Order: sequence, then C-alpha cells, then structure tokens
Amino acid sequence: MLRSFLYIISGDIAIEVGRELLNFENEDITDEDITENIKERIKGKKDFEPDDEEILKLNTVRKTLYKLYSEKLAQFRRIRDKSTGWFIYYWWHEFDLLEEILLEKKKLIQRKLRDRLEFERENYFFICEECGDPNIKYAFEQAFELNFRCPECGGELKAQDNEVIKKFLKDKVIQNQKTSFMIDRED
Ligand SMILES: [Zn+2]
Repeated sequence: MLRSFLYIISGDIAIEVGRELLNFENEDITDEDITENIKERIKGKKDFEPDDEEILKLNTVRKTLYKLYSEKLAQFRRIRDKSTGWFIYYWWHEFDLLEEILLEKKKLIQRKLRDRLEFERENYFFICEECGDPNIKYAFEQAFELNFRCPECGGELKAQDNEVIKKFLKDKVIQNQKTSFMIDRED
C-alpha cells in the first residue's frame, strides 16, 4: 500500500527515497546521503536520469522529498553548516500517517460522489430524440417555456434518462465505502 502510494506520488524514485527514509528512521539522514545511498544501490541496474551522465541527481531526490513533504509523508529540519554557511536538511518519514491521509482522501471522494449523485437526482434535462443530439438539452424551466417542443424540428422534448449515470454513481459510492486500507511495510 505504501509502495503504491509512493509510486503514485513520484514513480520509482519515490519508492527508492521511501526505502532510504525507512532504513534510516532511527538516524539522521540528509538529502545528500539519500542520493548517495540510492546511487550505490541502483548502480548499473536502473537509470533515473537517462539524459545525463550522472545516474541520479541530488535535485531529483530533493524534488521527491518535497513532494513527500507536501503529501505530509515526510518532514525535515534544517541546520546551518557553520563552515560553509549552507543549510543542511535532515529528513525523516511520517509514513505512520499514511492510513489517516488515505482515509481523508477516501472521505473527500465519498463527498464528491454523493454531491454528484444528489445533483443527478435533482436535476434532469430534456432532449429531442428527433434531432438526436445529446449535447442540446434543456432544463425543465426552458422545456416548459418551449411547451416541450424542440425549437429546431418541432419534435417532442423528452426527459433525458440518467438512470445509468445514477446507477454508476451509486456503485461508486458503495465501492468507496468498502475500501479499507491495510498498511504493510515491506523492504
Ligand atoms: Zn428536434
């Protein structure tokens, strides 16, 4: 689960970075260390930077770390190196929050689906079967004003069947409710 989520966030590189964060969860690790460790591990196996001579850029790792950070899956603290004046970033994972984050996402999707279903239940449109163009449709008030006659051909305006859409949304709502998250760590 964690693996798939990392992959969705930033592909293979996120999985590699995630692995480093897990390996060093009890020690300090900088983005530079992470880059070096991954380089060492993937030597000759995988090439994240095909256009470059370097096999993996520090920048790519940093970008990935910031993506994890923005998804609330990683945290950092920075310390100024007294000799160089540069900041050093120490990173750690917050993968324990994954379940919570996924539940939040699930709730959000559930709400969107229900809103959409509600909309489909309360709103329907009228179309002309003679013209057969599903993009030309009229709200109830419009259809009423037109006496349920198509202004193009004079054919009858009929309520558009949205049963299929409603059924689809209902199924999605149930599917979403059934989704559960089991967090398993693998290395
Ligand atoms: Zn018509």
